[in-house]
Amino acid sequence: MKNNISNRLVRFFRKIVPYNSRIFRILYYMYIRQNSISRLKKKKAADMEIQFHAADHCNLGCKGCDAFAPAVKECFADIETLKKDLARTAELTGGIVGTLTISGGEPLLNPQLPEILEYARSCFPNQKLQIITNGLLLERMSAKFWLACKDNQIIISLTRYPININLEKIKEIASAYSVGLAYQDDTDIREKTLAFNPLDLSGKQDIKKSYRLCFMSNRSFVVENGRIYTCTIIAHIDYFNKFFNQNFVVSERDYIDIYKAESIDEITDFMCRPMPFCRYCDKKNRVSGLDWEVSKKDIREWAE
Ligand code: SF4
Repeated sequence: MKNNISNRLVRFFRKIVPYNSRIFRILYYMYIRQNSISRLKKKKAADMEIQFHAADHCNLGCKGCDAFAPAVKECFADIETLKKDLARTAELTGGIVGTLTISGGEPLLNPQLPEILEYARSCFPNQKLQIITNGLLLERMSAKFWLACKDNQIIISLTRYPININLEKIKEIASAYSVGLAYQDDTDIREKTLAFNPLDLSGKQDIKKSYRLCFMSNRSFVVENGRIYTCTIIAHIDYFNKFFNQNFVVSERDYIDIYKAESIDEITDFMCRPMPFCRYCDKKNRVSGLDWEVSKKDIREWAE
């Protein structure tokens, strides 16, 4: 009940107060505190949002990107591995999840995207299937892409950044192909802002506290190269390590091998607990509502 009230308050206030105002920050803090209880609740497969990344690099490169895309030169998903992981995820979940998301990086950069969409739909015939994109390439996408979206009932979920894209034109094309267009998070209300989610290089954070105050934990899962992760931070930290010459350690207790897992129950049970990696996340010092900027590839965008 309490949870619903704070969620409703945040939804209401985010329409009328600036993100960087004191009142919004207090409400956001309340919202995270209230939701922190649900972080530790075991999810049903039918409520899971599962992401597959078609490309880990990006044509925009936001400051402090949660997937570390500015640190990635170019990396497309290997299509055979991706297909195998989709099929295995479908096998484990019986093809029933909350939402299946093709994301990145920027997924539209992957020329094999139509084939990926078709295969994803064949594995999950009746589930919500969406692409999350910054929209920069939408006007130039081929008819093959739009038809794949139409034929496989893909929703294009656009994150509205303060950049120059022709939204009216994009709406026109989507409508001509009868493809659903939606907005990611609350970017239907306001353009994207940024958050600073500091990584603690010393790894001395309380894992339970970090996990409970985290907006990613036990919420939107990433499947990549045969593993399922609770967040993009763990899934992609190798890019950060390589780019900034750091050594954040991912252990076998930070993810599950989807080919070794015997059931989805085993996965959902694992995901509702803090991971050892959470010791690197200083969620209590998270700052939201920052103006959007392109990354300068400076380590201070991610670490304290
Ligand atoms: S490592 Fe833990 S605290 Fe950090 S983003 Fe992932 S789930 Fe959240």
